[in-house]
Amino acid sequence: MRSVIQVFRTAGRSRNYVPPSRNVLEHVNRFRLPQVQSFATKSLPACWNCQKKSELKNNMICSDCGHLQDVDATINYFDLLSFPTKFPVEPQKLTKSFRQLQTLVHPDKFSNKTSREQTNSADWSSLINKAYKTLATPIDRGQYLLQLEGEEMPQDNSALNKEFLMTMMEKNEEVEEAEDREALEALNAELIKELEELTQKLTSFFEAKDLQGVKGTLVEMKYLLSIQSSIKQKQQSLLGS
Ligand SMILES: [Zn+2]
Repeated sequence: MRSVIQVFRTAGRSRNYVPPSRNVLEHVNRFRLPQVQSFATKSLPACWNCQKKSELKNNMICSDCGHLQDVDATINYFDLLSFPTKFPVEPQKLTKSFRQLQTLVHPDKFSNKTSREQTNSADWSSLINKAYKTLATPIDRGQYLLQLEGEEMPQDNSALNKEFLMTMMEKNEEVEEAEDREALEALNAELIKELEELTQKLTSFFEAKDLQGVKGTLVEMKYLLSIQSSIKQKQQSLLGS
């Protein structure tokens, strides 16, 4: 695990760093976590309107009578958004899928329908929003996948090494000492690059089913994101002064 981190750190620091080759990505894409909640393996519930056990269109709509079913809060977010349950996701594809689902359940389409469908449309709409936000944000997506594996993100610093904590303290000091917007922009650009590297690390750790590595990386991400939010706060306060 340590050697993997070293490799990524070296890769990130090298001026000759190149993004992972297509071969690596293809390898990563073969990785699949076991499906915790898969509709394919569930027995189909009967439609509340026509009572038939028909396939559901997009997990939500009876393919027989077209009525919007009650929300299923236990649905796997990846299934809902038609993605395989694995860490790498294509952001544009995710957004496209999200918009298609939101169009299907848009409350305007149900304003003349039964109150049950109106409620269902609002419920699905908010669940789709939640699922999209979770999958679109690497740290949230990583935490969600970790939960599907039956694990939780550690709430303390035990997953971090001293070297990392020292680096974080230095970064915090740099933010405190930054005197203008340019300096803050530069620090933020550094953080964005480091967060991208951590996202790559998460991909590798999930691929290797190294959940300890996943947890450590998620905690590191949390630290970087908290520094990023102090940068944003300071930028706001500079704008106000
Ligand atoms: Zn039906």
